[in-house]
Amino acid sequence: MAEFLESDSRKLLGRLRDTMADQSAGQTRLDQITALTAETMGTDVCSIYLFRDAETLELCATKGLNKDAVHETRMRLGEGLVGRVARDNKVINTPDAPSERGFRYMPETGEEVYSSFLGVPIQRLGEQLGVLIVQSKDQHEFSDDQVYALEVVAMVLAEMAELGAFVGEGAALSALHTRPVSFKGRTGQEGAAMGHVWLHEPRVVVTNPVADNPENERIRLREAVDSLRLSVDELLEAANSDEEQKGVLEAYRMFAHSKGWLRRMEEGIARGLSAEAAVEKEQSLARSRMEQATDQYLRDRLHDIDDLSNKLLRILTGQGAQTGSEMPDDPILVARNLGPGELLEYGRKLRAVVLEEGSVGSHAAIVARALAIPLVIHADRITNEALNGDPIMVDGDDGVVHLRPDDTVSSAFRDKLAMRVEAQERFASIRETLCASQCGQRVELHMNAGLMADLPSLQNSGAEGVGLFRTELQFLIRNQMPKRSELSATYERVLNAAGEKRVVFRTLDIGSDKVLPYLKPQEEPNPALGWRAIRVGLDKPGVMRMQLQALMRAANGRPLTIMFPFIAQYEEFARAREEVDKTLARESRLGHAVPATLEIGAMLETPSLAFSTNRFFEEVDFLSIGGNDLKQFFFAADRENERVRRRYDTLNVSFLTFLEGIVKRCNETETRLSFCGEDAGRPIEALCLAAIGLRSLSMRPASIGPVKNLIMQCDLNEIYGVIEHVRKTGGQSVRPALMAFLKHRGYRT
Ligand code: PEP
Ligand code: MG
Repeated sequence: MAEFLESDSRKLLGRLRDTMADQSAGQTRLDQITALTAETMGTDVCSIYLFRDAETLELCATKGLNKDAVHETRMRLGEGLVGRVARDNKVINTPDAPSERGFRYMPETGEEVYSSFLGVPIQRLGEQLGVLIVQSKDQHEFSDDQVYALEVVAMVLAEMAELGAFVGEGAALSALHTRPVSFKGRTGQEGAAMGHVWLHEPRVVVTNPVADNPENERIRLREAVDSLRLSVDELLEAANSDEEQKGVLEAYRMFAHSKGWLRRMEEGIARGLSAEAAVEKEQSLARSRMEQATDQYLRDRLHDIDDLSNKLLRILTGQGAQTGSEMPDDPILVARNLGPGELLEYGRKLRAVVLEEGSVGSHAAIVARALAIPLVIHADRITNEALNGDPIMVDGDDGVVHLRPDDTVSSAFRDKLAMRVEAQERFASIRETLCASQCGQRVELHMNAGLMADLPSLQNSGAEGVGLFRTELQFLIRNQMPKRSELSATYERVLNAAGEKRVVFRTLDIGSDKVLPYLKPQEEPNPALGWRAIRVGLDKPGVMRMQLQALMRAANGRPLTIMFPFIAQYEEFARAREEVDKTLARESRLGHAVPATLEIGAMLETPSLAFSTNRFFEEVDFLSIGGNDLKQFFFAADRENERVRRRYDTLNVSFLTFLEGIVKRCNETETRLSFCGEDAGRPIEALCLAAIGLRSLSMRPASIGPVKNLIMQCDLNEIYGVIEHVRKTGGQSVRPALMAFLKHRGYRT
C-alpha cells in the first residue's frame, strides 16, 4: 500500500469541506464521506456506524459493504469490534480482524473476509456519536498517520453533526440537540420548575473545522495561545500573597506553557484542521481521559486542560459569554459548576439551576436553598446537550431533569406542578396563623437564614423569628475576610428586617465542609471531627471578638441573641461566654450602646453535651439541637458521604429516645430548647419532634408552610402514642407505623 502522507490528510479534509458546503441531504453527505475516505485512504471499505440509542449502533453509510445493510445492521455496545471501539472509546487497529477477540461476522453486509480493520470513535468533547471504520482485504496494520487522519475525519463528522449537517430527508442522524433527553442527577434543593435553558457559559460552536491555509491557522493559534498565557500570568500575579491559590495556578500555567500541548495542536493544523478544531481535538482527548482517570490529581489536571481549551476557543472564535442572545423570561440556568457569588448575581429571576458537578454542601447549593431555587446537581453531560432556549423541566425532589420533553413527560410534569401550586395555596392560607396542634400545643416555627437574600422570607414565610442565622455564609461568599464595619452593617440590616422578631445569631461555624476561600485549608485526616466551629473560635479568638463586637454594634441598644456552635463540653461554653463578657465591657468602656438584653446559647451537636452537668444546663440561656451534626455523630455516618448519609432514619427509635432525653433534661432544668437541623423542615420528622416535646423548630423558610399544615391537623398525644407503640413492639423506625396512621386518618402532607 502506498505511503499515506500529511498532504493526503489535508486533501481528504479539503474534500470533506466541499461535502459540507454542498447542499445535499444528510444521507447523501454521509455516503459521500465514506466514498471519499475509502478512496483517499486506499481502503476497500469505509463505514459509519451511529448510535441509535445509548446501547445500539446502526450502520448508517458504507462504501464497500452491501448497501442493503444500511440502516438494517445493528449491534449492541461492546458487540463485535465496532461495538468495542464504542464501548471502550478507543481506537482498534488490527491486521487480522477475524482472529481478534469478539470479532463478529455479519453476512448481511456481504462482508468478505476483510483482514485489516481500523475503527475510531466519532465523538465531540466526550459526547459519543458513533464509530468510523476502514477495512481492507490485505493484511496490514494501519500507520500512525492513517490512524490520525481517520480520527480527524471522525472529528469533522462530529462537528458536522453538531451543525446539523446530516439532518433531512432519509436522515441518518436526527439532529443533535433536538431529541428529548432526561438526566438523573441528585437533589441539591427540592422544588419543581419548568422554563427555558440559559447556559451560564454557552458552548462554543466551531463552524470551520477544516482550513486550507495551515500557516494562517498556525499564526492564529500561536497568537491565541500567547494571549491565553498572558491572562494566566496576570491571574498568577494577582494571587501574589496567596500561597494556596498560587500553587493551583502554577499547575495551570504549566499547562498553558506546555510545549507538548501546542505541538499536538499544531500537528492537527498540519493535517488540515482549523485552529479551533485542533484545540477541540486535544480537548476531546483530555475529556475522554478524564472520564477514565481514577486519580483525583490527574483528573484535576485534565480539568485544567479542558478549562484552558475553552478559554482558547473563546479567544479564537470571539464567542464570549452570552453574546447575541437574550435571557428567556423563565430561565433555568445550566452550568458545569457555579460559584455562590455567581448564583447570587443571577438571583431570584432563575426558576431552577442544573449543574453537572456541585455537591449538596457546596456554597452554590447553600445559596440555592436560601433563594428557594430548585437545584439538581450531577446532571452528567447536560452542558453538552442543552442549547440556549431549549424547553426544560426540573424536578428537584427526585433530582431529575427533562430536556426538550415530549408530550407525555410534559403533561405528567404539569400535573405535578399543579399539585404543588394547590399545596402552596393551602400553605398561604394559614401563613398568618400561629402553629398549634389539634390538642392545643403551641409549636413555634422559626426560619434558618444567613444571606440578605433570605430576609424577604421573614415576612412571606410566616416565620416567627430567625432560629438560626448562619453567620459563616457572609464569610463564605466573599473573596476576603469581611471587615467589622461590613459585618455590623449586615447584622443591622437583619435586625431591622426582623423588627420585633427574635434573631439567633450563630457565631462563625467554619471548618469541616465549610472552607473559607481566603484561609489556608487545614490538612486534617477527618475534618468533620477536626478543628472546626467553636474550636477555631477559641484557639484563634481574633475573628470571634470582631464578630461579637460587630453584633453588639448592630444591636445598638436592642436585644441581642448569640449562639455558639459545636459546644462539646461545659468549659467551651464558659470560655466563649467569657469572650462575650469581655467584649461587652470593652464596648461599654468605648461608650457604645450595649444590648438591652443579651441571651447566650449553645448548639447541641455532639452527643457529649446531652450528658453535661446540670450546671451547664442551668447556665446556658437556651440550647438548639443541630440535628445535622448530632445525627452524623450519633450514627457515626458522615452527613457529606452519599453512601451513608441516608442510611439511618431520623425516626429511628434510638435517635428519638436520645432526643427525648435531651428534652427531659431541659424541662428539668428549665432550659429553653429548640431544634434547627434540616429535619425540622421535613413535615413527618417535624411532627415526631413536636410529639416528643420539641416545641420550637427552625427550618428553611419554604418548609414552614408544609410543617405547619401537618402539625395543625394532628393531635400530638396520638402521635406520641404511635412512637410509644413502636418502641414497645421493638420496631426500628417509627416511620412505617406513622405513615400508616396518617394515611388511615386521611391527613394531607
Ligand atoms: C446542624 O448541624 O444541624 C446545623 C444546623 O448546623 P450546620 O448544618 O450549619 O452545621
Ligand atoms: Mg452543625
